[in-house]
This record gives sequence, C-alpha cells and structure tokens, in this order.
Amino acid sequence: MSLQQKLAQFTKLNLNKTSTPLQRLENLSRVYGREIFIKRDDISPLAMGGNKLRKLEFLIADALEKKAKVIVTAGAIQSNHVRQTAAIAAMYGLRCIALLENPIQSDEHNFLHNGNKLLTNLFGAESVMCEALTDPQAQMEELIQTLALEDAYIVPVGGSNALGALGYVQCAIEIAQQKPLEIEFEKVIVASGSAGTHAGLAIGLQELLPHSQVIGVTVSRFKQEQAPKVEKIQRELAELFAILKVPEVQLWDGFFEPMYGMPNQAGLNAITLLARSEGILLDPVYTGKAMAGLLNYLENSDEKTPVLFIHTGGAPALFAYPEINKTINN
Ligand SMILES: *Cc1c(COP(=O)(O)O)cnc(C)c1O
Repeated sequence: MSLQQKLAQFTKLNLNKTSTPLQRLENLSRVYGREIFIKRDDISPLAMGGNKLRKLEFLIADALEKKAKVIVTAGAIQSNHVRQTAAIAAMYGLRCIALLENPIQSDEHNFLHNGNKLLTNLFGAESVMCEALTDPQAQMEELIQTLALEDAYIVPVGGSNALGALGYVQCAIEIAQQKPLEIEFEKVIVASGSAGTHAGLAIGLQELLPHSQVIGVTVSRFKQEQAPKVEKIQRELAELFAILKVPEVQLWDGFFEPMYGMPNQAGLNAITLLARSEGILLDPVYTGKAMAGLLNYLENSDEKTPVLFIHTGGAPALFAYPEINKTINN
C-alpha cells in the first residue's frame, strides 16, 4: 500500500483542498547560484495561514468523530497554533478554550493584545492564563476538571502527536508531486518546535524522496532535548505506516537563543532579507530563525545542490513584537 493509501484510512477534514504552492525563490537562487525552493504553508487556507491547519485537519476530524463540543488547547500568548485552532473550532461550531502562558514575560501592549492574540479573541476562543506551561497535558486535564467541561477534546501543544503529524506526511506527498522532475533537494529545512511538522516530513520524505535530508532548526530547546521529541513522533508514525526504519534526526541549534519566543538579530535580518528580496513574510519566533539557519548554511557551503525551505507561517506575530519596528527603522 502506498503512503497515500495508508493516509486515506484516517479520517480527515478536507479544508486544504488545493494544497499550497511550491515556488522557486528567484532572487535568492540567483544570489547563491543554486536552486532554492520554498513550500508555502504560510498561505494555507485558514485564518492567515500556517502549518497547524494540516495537523488540525486530522485532529478536529477525530474530535468531531468523538462528538466533542469543546476544544481545549495550549500555547504562548502569541501562539499561531492557538489562533488556527480557534479558527477551525469556530468553523465547526465548537467552543474553544486556550490555556496560555507568557514565556518571555513581556508586558508590551502589542504582545499581550495584538497579532495572534487579537485573532484568537476574534475567533471567539476563551483564554485562561497560567504561570508557565510546565506540563501542558496535565494542566489542560486539570482545567477541564476545574471548569467541569463535558465532551472536551484536548489538542496537544502545537497539534503535535502522531495523528496531527499525519498532516506533514501528507505535505511530503505533495512536495514529491509538485517538485520539478530534474530537481533533487539535498536538504529540506524546517523550524522544529513541538516537532510534529519535522517528524511527519522526515518520515514522508524518507519514503518518497530518500535523497532529501530533513533538517530541523530548533526554536525552543537545544538538540539534546529536541531530538527525542522528534524521534518519539517518528517512531509512532513508523508504527502506523509499518515502516521499519526511522530517519536519524538532524537538527541545527545555533539559531534560537536567547530563548523561545524572543527575537534575535540573525532572525530579524532574515525577516528583512526575505521581505526585501522576495516579498515574503517570515516571523520572529519560528521561520525567521529557521531561515537564519538556512542562510548561514548557504553562506558557508560550497555545494550547489538544490534546497527547500518549509515556510510554516507565523506572520501575524510581526504585529506583536516591537523589535520589528526597531529593525526596519534602523
Ligand atoms: C508551530 C509552528 C512551527 C513549528 O512546528 P512544530 O510542528 O510545532 O514543530 C513552525 N513555524 C510556525 C510559524 C509555527 O506556528
């Protein structure tokens, strides 16, 4: 059975009907003298786009099958995941409750109220603040108890369990179908956070484009702690698909400091570069940092092989960070 046939066994909403474009970055390809492509999951068709739609298509289908009435999820105040979950819950008439933390302890007005948070509120989700998401699963279960919620369905942080990661096996299938025949991506670069995107792509591409190496750029923790998270989901997927071998997890972790959710200069420079050379919006928390990783590789590599950047979205956070203003006014 093909990956596609196996995927079809899982119930899935069909919102991402047309798939997302795979494009060549014309100007960056010229500058670096190699083929640089981008997968535009930043413009997936839900609520200003992003990678969580593909996961939510599987997770919310499961919630509906289980007759859930309330979706409970968790994330940072500026979570793209919470924004997209709030939107899809609204589409299906589900109540949405989000357990939120402020990981950078910011008291900036825009961080607290604009960007993703504004949209989460607009979609009608209810927010509950907590000190820190130290054990999100337990904290969400406790919240369900406290609020005496019935028919609640927990969507894990980032939508990252094996079921959600199926969305990125699907994405790997799309990439294999869309890529020009003569192009063989040597590296596929993706931000690696809650790890479902990275794991799904790595499993899918191992089966379909075995010469492409998936590299995650860490955005929240160093390699030693990130690798087991990716591995766990890869193993669960491998089991679902009866795949015997899982890829070795590849991570670059020089690009996320000082910490998750806090912009850094290399990431801000990457955001400016992509905006001004390609008209593409990156974000300060995930894709700016992942692109900083790719640019660092391009600057220091003598290879001329094609590469692919997975654009996972996040641009609504541009409106939440004063660092963006400072960068462009310099
Ligand atoms: C959630 C997110 C990621 C990370 O994806 P994971 O599956 O959580 O690793 C990357 N980029 C953006 C914009 C995101 O919102």
